[in-house]
Amino acid sequence: MEQIGHWINGAHVAGTSGRTADVFNPATGEVQAQVALASQKEMDRAISSAAEAQIAWGATNPQRRARVMMELVRLLNRDMDKLAEAISSEHGKTFPDAKGDVQRGLEVIEFCIGAPHLLKGEFTDAAGPGIDMYSMRQPLGVVAGITPFNFPAMIPLWKLGPALASGNAMILKPSERDPSCPMMLGALLKEAGLPDGVFQVINGDKAAVDAILDSEIIQAVGFVGSTPIAQYIYSRAAETGKRCQCFGGAKNHMIIMPDADMDQAADALIGASYGAAGERCMAISVAVPVGDETADRLIEKLVPRIEALKVGPYTAGNDVDFGPVVTKAAKENILRLVQTGVDQGAELVVDGRNFNLQGYENGFFVGAHLFDRVTPDMDIYKTEIFGPVLSTVRAASYEEALGLAMDHEYGNGTAIFTRDGDAARDFASRVNIGMVGINVPIPVPLAYHTFGGWKRSGFGDLNQHGPDSFRFYTRTKTVTSRWPSGIKEGAAFNFKAMD
Ligand code: NAD
Repeated sequence: MEQIGHWINGAHVAGTSGRTADVFNPATGEVQAQVALASQKEMDRAISSAAEAQIAWGATNPQRRARVMMELVRLLNRDMDKLAEAISSEHGKTFPDAKGDVQRGLEVIEFCIGAPHLLKGEFTDAAGPGIDMYSMRQPLGVVAGITPFNFPAMIPLWKLGPALASGNAMILKPSERDPSCPMMLGALLKEAGLPDGVFQVINGDKAAVDAILDSEIIQAVGFVGSTPIAQYIYSRAAETGKRCQCFGGAKNHMIIMPDADMDQAADALIGASYGAAGERCMAISVAVPVGDETADRLIEKLVPRIEALKVGPYTAGNDVDFGPVVTKAAKENILRLVQTGVDQGAELVVDGRNFNLQGYENGFFVGAHLFDRVTPDMDIYKTEIFGPVLSTVRAASYEEALGLAMDHEYGNGTAIFTRDGDAARDFASRVNIGMVGINVPIPVPLAYHTFGGWKRSGFGDLNQHGPDSFRFYTRTKTVTSRWPSGIKEGAAFNFKAMD
């Protein structure tokens, strides 16, 4: 059985805690590896050596650090298939989708090549007589990234790119469900020229996370995962004065106006709801057609498309639409929630409960489900299902549809499908959700913009990637400097006006 340890000081290191977790192949249900779960002692040692390595890295000029990012881009492209294979085999997503996972992370690394420009401070010449004022952006020291199972390449890359390019050292604590890809990123960074110790991958569970949260060396924590854990990490990290950004769960609504192109809306919904088996924080899990006639037309278009979806293992070829979910527990939870939908009176239009894939009976496959006539009091509406289940909530008017999206506790992403510019503008302006699509179902911003949800989908004030990420991973120092004549004039005891 393959044993996955940690990546410390530029080398694979076996775990010493004696605790491990099983890593499954979700398509077959078999255990394919065991990953070490770090103890507090192991974590503390990794953090201390990262702190030593950070001193020289933080003093390295920004252009040299950016060159490591440039080389990493080349290596990620070179090893794209290997990384995607590791992702698909542990996560279960299709091979093209796994490549997309790497690609969307790689784009943030490309953005980080421009770090020297982003790290430039501000300068005011002659702020007063003989006085200049300037600000610098300096690294924080050692920072930590705690990441979820559903994007084992993209989210670690979103974190490590801006953190390392800014001169920090990083401890990455990836998901214990699919640790291989993050470990490969450690090796690629070394090959790209990153000094040993500046990036450490420490595998683990709550014990490893708590060691990060309680460390006095770690200065900032970037987390992505479910909302209860996001909130826990946000509050515990704040207790020790850390800078913290925590991105949580989602329930993304797509509003379909009566004037929308219904074929386009249906196609968009299929990809956005069932892609990656619904295991995306930007998946659309609620369709809100406006008016009964729109709802009827939408359901009519959706049903044959859903019934034609091809579910299978990533090894079955590129025409598979989605694979298994990540664990048996995830599968059971999805089916339990589907049952609550039936029990609470929703209409199960497409029933995937008896889905069975010949030859993969022990895999964690879940068939596609479509609910109609879902109401806001139902568990399937309130809860993030994180599976291939789309709920339709019929709204009588645009205002009712907008109100549904706004009243939901989550605020990650949303979309409106319409041909009416006025409705689209009104929606984008009023909705209290962080990322909005207009005739775009999964509005994931590109690397040079920022990514983040509102309400209980995000805790903290700065977003991921884009310019915000460089603000998150640096602190500003502002210098007021006076040279020509001040000392000759003697001491001044009042705040002087700059005139
Ligand atoms: P999760 O919250 O279970 O785990 C995330 C990380 O937290 C993992 O590294 C895990 O080891 C750690 N963790 C788990 N339980 C913990 C505990 N009790 N104490 C301390 N640490 C703990 O999330 P997941 O199942 O890996 O990922 C799916 C979730 O992530 C979904 O809710 C999804 O919406 C969310 N997500 C959000 C975004 C976003 O940008 N908002 C992006 C991707 C995923």
